[in-house]
Amino acid sequence: MKRKLIVQKYGGSSVAHSERIKRVAQRVIATKHQGADVVVVVSALGDTTDELLQLASQVSQSPSERELDMLMATGEQVSVALLAMAIHAFGEDAVSFTGAQVGILTDGTHTKARLVKINTHRIVEELHKGRIVIVAGFQGVNLNQDITTLGRGGSDLTAVALAKSLAADVCEIFTDVEGVYTADPRLVPQARKLDAISYDEMLELASLGAQVMQARSIFVAKRFQIPIHVRSSFSAREGTMITHSVGAMEDIVVSGVSLQKDEAKVTIRDVPDKPGMAAQIFRELASHGLNVDMIVQNVSREGSTDLSFTVVKTDLVATLRVTRQVSHRIGTGEVTTDEGVAKVSIVGIGMRSHSGVAARMFEAMARERINIEMISTSEIKISCLIRKQHAERAVRTLHQAFGLGKRR
Ligand code: ADP
Ligand code: ASP
Ligand code: MG
Repeated sequence: MKRKLIVQKYGGSSVAHSERIKRVAQRVIATKHQGADVVVVVSALGDTTDELLQLASQVSQSPSERELDMLMATGEQVSVALLAMAIHAFGEDAVSFTGAQVGILTDGTHTKARLVKINTHRIVEELHKGRIVIVAGFQGVNLNQDITTLGRGGSDLTAVALAKSLAADVCEIFTDVEGVYTADPRLVPQARKLDAISYDEMLELASLGAQVMQARSIFVAKRFQIPIHVRSSFSAREGTMITHSVGAMEDIVVSGVSLQKDEAKVTIRDVPDKPGMAAQIFRELASHGLNVDMIVQNVSREGSTDLSFTVVKTDLVATLRVTRQVSHRIGTGEVTTDEGVAKVSIVGIGMRSHSGVAARMFEAMARERINIEMISTSEIKISCLIRKQHAERAVRTLHQAFGLGKRR
């Protein structure tokens, strides 16, 4: 019978210091002793990636993205080596690799590279020798042999992609909470752990701010139907299964609430109210690789309108530069920015077949006297842009309004 193959990923907090690294080592060894081949993906220790970025910002206002990748990738190189040593110290065989060493090939887009291919032969060779294979998460290498990284939270993507390439039986994501909850458990004490969630809902929750899984990793998992088990590295309890279909949930309208605080609003005043204006503005932004999220255009008065949209804060400087250029060209009023906003969202497949969900959301916000500045919807989510100071209260309010804390 074919041996079972398990891919396990341990996040930064799970390997934050030496005692935790030793515990991870024991857990990995225990998995191996249960008769499985184990490939482990590890993130950088604790907040290392943030600290490295902080250092970069101290030496340069706009560090080169290639060099940022060189810098950030060092974090994961430290953790794989330490985990291998810890496993050796417990008498088990293990070998650590960087992304480049195991042939995780990406395109050239530094700091958010896309996976092109994974050459698994080195990993398979080492597994055949009976070793535990430890791979640095979050990193790869491009055709020029330059080190790339896969976007923040990218170790999740490394794990899912390895699970796909190695045809693993399961992909386990070990983190500092017991699974995927109805809302961030740090924000909402009543949040409830979900036993299972669909790829579609997890993808929305992750894209809308639930950092427990990187959104891109869920996209890949859905595409290749890789089941993911999100669970705690500090307990043996079952976590949350992210899978294709989650049965018998017809009556559940909303599965989760999420919060995103990293967006900023840009407003262009007095845009001439004639065909082609929005097209010019958003074409220009797109051609600079700037992704716009929510968009609102006010009603026209005296031949012009105000246009507002949101972008992630890290794109704000570039967005302003481009927007000011177009606005000058087409002759609009001033361009202003607002970083005091937050986006709260509700997500649920049940919205497809229920009406009145938006009304319930807006009523809940109204009861709390929270003003909604922008709204966007899709088939399975509704998002509202509000003032940042109300963000946490809004999440708790929505969590309660949709009865998410109750057992069902
Ligand atoms: P890791 O270092 O293991 O990758 P992350 O910090 O990236 O961990 O993700 C885990 C964190 O995600 C949790 O500590 C929790 O605060 C946060 N989180 C946000 N939304 C959710 C949610 N819906 N369910 C679970 N955790 C969530
Ligand atoms: N260390 C990287 C980050 O903090 C990747 C990860 O943890 O998944 O974003
Ligand atoms: Mg993470």
